[in-house]
Parts: sequence; structure tokens; C-alpha cells
Amino acid sequence: MNRSAVPTSARSFVGFVAGIPGLLRRPLTLDDTLRIVRDRLARREENFLLTAEELIYANPRSPFRRLLELAGCELGDLRVMVRADGIERALGKLRAEGVYVSFEEFKGRAPLVRGGREIDVRPSDFANPRQRRAIRSLSGGSTGPATQVARDLMQIERDALVRVLTYWAHGVLDAPTASWRLGLPSHEGVGQLLEDAKHRQIHERWFSPPSAFGFPASARNRLAEELMFAAARVAGVRLPRREVVDYDRADVIARWASDALRREGRALMRANVSQSVRIALAAREHGLDLTGLVFVAGAEPATPTKARAIAESGARHTPVYGSSEIGKLGGGCAAANSSNDSHFFSHTHAVIQHRRTTAAGTHDALLFTTLTPDGPTVLLNADSDDYGVVETRSCGCRFEEVGLTLHIRDVFSFSKLSGDGVTMVADDLFRVIEDVLPARFGGSMFDYQFVEEEDERGFTRLTVLVSPHIDIGDEADVVQTVLNSLGSTKLATEVAHIWGSTAAVRVQRTRPRIVGRGKHELLVRSSLRREP
Ligand SMILES: [Zn+2]
Repeated sequence: MNRSAVPTSARSFVGFVAGIPGLLRRPLTLDDTLRIVRDRLARREENFLLTAEELIYANPRSPFRRLLELAGCELGDLRVMVRADGIERALGKLRAEGVYVSFEEFKGRAPLVRGGREIDVRPSDFANPRQRRAIRSLSGGSTGPATQVARDLMQIERDALVRVLTYWAHGVLDAPTASWRLGLPSHEGVGQLLEDAKHRQIHERWFSPPSAFGFPASARNRLAEELMFAAARVAGVRLPRREVVDYDRADVIARWASDALRREGRALMRANVSQSVRIALAAREHGLDLTGLVFVAGAEPATPTKARAIAESGARHTPVYGSSEIGKLGGGCAAANSSNDSHFFSHTHAVIQHRRTTAAGTHDALLFTTLTPDGPTVLLNADSDDYGVVETRSCGCRFEEVGLTLHIRDVFSFSKLSGDGVTMVADDLFRVIEDVLPARFGGSMFDYQFVEEEDERGFTRLTVLVSPHIDIGDEADVVQTVLNSLGSTKLATEVAHIWGSTAAVRVQRTRPRIVGRGKHELLVRSSLRREP
């Protein structure tokens, strides 16, 4: 979920800007949206078999083609299985035959080995080949940046549909809207504005926390934004200018919300869970009532503490579950029975569960399969590194009305870590514990440990446990060393900046807790986090 929806290299940027008028010209309506979802639900099996035929069996690069081959499952066999058993039971049988990819295999971090044979796979082999072909004709045969551009524009168009559905379910379609969006890495906020502009829910305000990459200082970035806005105006859409709002000035946003609620009785705020908590706390501090405000967020799970902090302001919070690689997988139930209760997007995906044991315990991992040919990737039993509860339940909300009756809730990650809307794979932190901290302060990797937990107000904190016998001098040095060691990628720089400015990392002098074996011992989740 960290990849920007908007490209940043100069050439791809020009292509992106040129594509904006075309993206926005024909608005997406609610009627279109409901018709598309119902139609896809009615044709699930048919769509899945066509997608498998065209994007897996006919694609020599597809890792799933090789896996199906090894399992002895030809297209005709798949058709028979799906028609006899239904999609989900057929997927369960395929999983048992080795047709799946783990999260590490999907990311290219582990070789794909089945039955003693290694399958040569690059992460790009999971990309949707149809999208690549469509892009080639769209961009006149150019490659590289142009491909990226078309993919980004398609992602915005695809996600607009999910937005209409989710806003409609929560009664905030066409309500006054604003966003408080991180600059990750630099233009992502514009992607959100465009997504909602596609269905003409034009944001009134665009708030943005300060970024490590020079907002609002950089003239180049300001010019880039001006160009994107000018392109939107060509399609008759006027987007709001970025207003930089610091993490401790959430009251500015709470005031906008309170004003919008006075005007129209309802409002929508796009902000991640931690930011939503900041806005809710600021509202209470300044005596503002946020009843009627809906926060829509992704990325981070809303734990009970966070959900309570938001509810106490009168606002509601709802998640959108998914990632940029897999696509959007679910929208928060409007009659939720837990803070992460989402309606699974069964019109585009299938999900099955597979029991897995790690240091985090034994949980039902979620494996996803794409049913329609328009996703960013093609997946067949792909492990997302998440686990959770899957159930069919009648809740009476509008998602159910359109036919989406499968719920997915209490979703947690096996090895990813979220804080203030940013997600780091734990591997990046293991390096800090194994190498960086012992080299700088002494002791061994067993003297250090990261604990992800929530503070009393609901903010996610990363606590570094340091054995008491290690002489660290000033605790601030440990925090600084951690932030400096996250790496030099754009994402790592931005994460360090955010964690630094929100004081998300703290030190505790206590012996690391023994929780299991291997790497995961270095990172534990506090018991404050709800486990299913
Ligand atoms: Zn519902």
C-alpha cells in the first residue's frame, strides 16, 4: 500500500498528466457501479475460468501455469473442478496440490520450489499480462515509464469503483470530502483526489502532513502539482490546493469537519487510522462534535483503543482492505461487529484459508485469487501475509444489498508492522537488531527487541527493548540510531521522518522477552493488540 498511485520520474510524469483529462472526462455513476458489481457476481465462475485461460494457461511467464502443470491440472480439469465443486473448494484442492505462492515467494524473497523442482520466477511475472498488452496499444508501443503511467491511471479508475460502493454503503456518497494525506513518496495525495474526482466527489480541502521530501518548500513539486491541476481543469474538474498541516495541528482539520457537518449533516474524511485518532482527539479538546463524519482508511488495523478514541468524537471509522499489488479486497461493513469487519469483494476475488504456524502463533492465513482480468496482478492462492476470520453473515447493510455477503474481519499481518499509516516489513527492522544496534552500543542481538504496541491514547508505538546491562548513554541516541538505520530508500526515509516527528519510537530498559524461535523473536506484538 506504500507505492504511490502517481509516477514521479520526469517522462512518466508528463504521460500521467496527459492522461488525466481522459481519465476524468466520463464520470462513474452509482448506477454503473452497482450494475458492474452485480453482473460480476452473477458471472463469478465464468470470469474465473476465462481469466485462468487467458492470463494463466496462455501466459508462458505465469508462475501459476507452471504450478498447475506440476500438479497435473489442465484447463479442462480446472473447468470440471470449478463446475462440480465451486471456486473455493476447487482452490482448496489446488492448494493441497501445491498450487499457491507464499508471501516471500510472491515478493521474490524466497525461491519457488515444489516437489523438489525450483520454478524460475521474478516478481514481475505476477503482473497482469492483459494490462501490459492494453498499455502497449494505449501508449503506442513505448515501454517503461509509459507502462507505469497507464497502470497508475488504470489503478485510479479501478479504485474509483470501490470508492463509490464504500461511500454509498456508508451514506457519504457526494458528502463534503477532504483528505489528510501523507506524501509517500511525493504525489500520492493527488491520486486520492483523482480517484474521487472520477465519480465527481470533488474534495473541498486537501490537508497534507509535512514530508521528508520538501513540501511545501520544493518549487519543482509545486510546479508538478500545478500541472496536474491544470490537466484536471481541462476535464472541467477543479481540485483543491495542498495545505500543509503538521501532526500536532489536527484541530485545523477537525474545524473543517465540524463546519461541513453544520452545513450538510454528513462529511467524509480520508485519513489513515492514526491520523483519524489525532483529528478525533483534537475535536474533543476543542469541544467540536464530529457526529456524522466518516473516516475512510486503509493500511493500519483500528484496534479497540483507536476505534474508541474515534467513536468518542462522534465520528465513525471504516477500513478499505487491500494493497496496491493485490488490489482492493474489501470495504468496511456499515453494521460492523468488530472494528475490522469488512465485506469481501467477491465480485473480483476469491479467498480461502490455510492454517499456518509461526512464532506469532497458529493462524488461518488468507490466500487470494483474482477472478476478473482487470487487477494489477494475477493471483491463484496467493498468501498475503495476513490472517483473519472469514464468514458469511447477514448484517443488513448496503454491501449485502448488492450481493456482497462474505465478511472478513480481525485481519492481522504475520510479519508486517504498521504505525501512523506506514507499513514496514519486519525484515528491515531485523537488520537493525542483528547488526546495527550491537555494533553501536555493544552486546548481541539477544540484548535488543522491537515491540509493537499501543500507547494509552491509541497511537501505535515501536518500543525498543534494551537489556539493562548495555550502556547506551542517552536513550535518544538509540532512537536516532534506529531511525537512521531504516535504509536509504525513499520509503524508509519517509518512514524515518514520520516516526521521528510523531515520536513513534521509544526505548525501554528491560530484558527482551522470549516468545519463540528464530527471527520473529526479535519483534513481538504487545498483548494490547487484539488477537482473534
Ligand atoms: Zn455489512
